Amino acid sequence: MKTISIVVPMYNEAEVLPKMYSELTATINALDYGFEIVLVNDGSRDDTVQEALKLVEKDERVLLVDLSRNFGKEIALTAGLDKASGDAVIPMDADLQDPPTLIPDLVKKWEEGYQVVNAKRISRDADSFMKRTSAAIFYRLFRKLSGKTEIPENVGDFRLLDRQALDSLLSMREHHRFMKGLFAYVGYRQATVEYERPIRAAGETKFNYWKLWNFSLEGITSFSIAPLKVSTYLGVASAAFAFLYGIYIFVRTVLIGEDVPGFPTIVVLVTFLGGVQLFFLGVFGEYMGRMFNEVKNRPLYFVAREYRQTKNDNGDKE
Ligand code: UDP
Ligand code: MG
Repeated sequence: MKTISIVVPMYNEAEVLPKMYSELTATINALDYGFEIVLVNDGSRDDTVQEALKLVEKDERVLLVDLSRNFGKEIALTAGLDKASGDAVIPMDADLQDPPTLIPDLVKKWEEGYQVVNAKRISRDADSFMKRTSAAIFYRLFRKLSGKTEIPENVGDFRLLDRQALDSLLSMREHHRFMKGLFAYVGYRQATVEYERPIRAAGETKFNYWKLWNFSLEGITSFSIAPLKVSTYLGVASAAFAFLYGIYIFVRTVLIGEDVPGFPTIVVLVTFLGGVQLFFLGVFGEYMGRMFNEVKNRPLYFVAREYRQTKNDNGDKE
């Protein structure tokens, strides 16, 4: 029998965890597959670990990976995917916003031979207007800048990957992990299943606008070097403008002979160009900082402890 690993990153999800577990198992118990549930505790400050341990005790399919601190969702998810042993994996949020009831549909597409099955949300009514608009702008910008990597719109981390796609994904060990981009980058035969995204079952979101902004910076800088090129073109354009303007002033002075006014022009130009230069120094800095982090090549995460039921020789659970 083939097995499927469900991977759930959790940060302060004690409140929803029992509900998540019961809804998830209600769905997967009806399926004709072996399952493994990989729970990753991403340095929660509430009782997430205690709640998860209860599940480990009552269900031998549950594995709890307790990270040494909070590493962020992308890394926590990677840790879980590293530990997953199934023939396919399904990453899922803990808050039931990725409805387990969709799992049979994902699996069906997998049976049809697709190696990656994306879950696409058809409406984002659960999100605020601001969040929807900023997401739409981000997707458009990403598509323009990243060239060949197409991230499907309105697809989160919720999807199914078969072993081959997963191994490809996991072979990319970069520290700045924009998972949506990495998922898309691996390619393979992809299919899409649609669903309505419900609102969070309990607890609250861990992503504010500042985090989302940084997240999109991560996405763009991880998949595109176009921002670095902009400064080249801007530089060429302003140099050309300065050259032409210089000729104009020279000719005018020779022909008309008037002395050169234009103090305001100088101030405006100097401050404008100063601003442009600082801006692109910042853009370079973004890339250089990322290079710095990648070059250090530290492990992506540390595991404090793993918990799962073990059976000793007497067949008793430990
Ligand atoms: N999460 C995590 N580490 C973090 C932040 C979030 O593992 O530092 C998990 C969180 O527990 C949840 C998933 O990532 O399972 C998605 O988070 P959330 O629901 O807050 O994001 P949203 O749905 O609001 O975008
Ligand atoms: Mg959520």
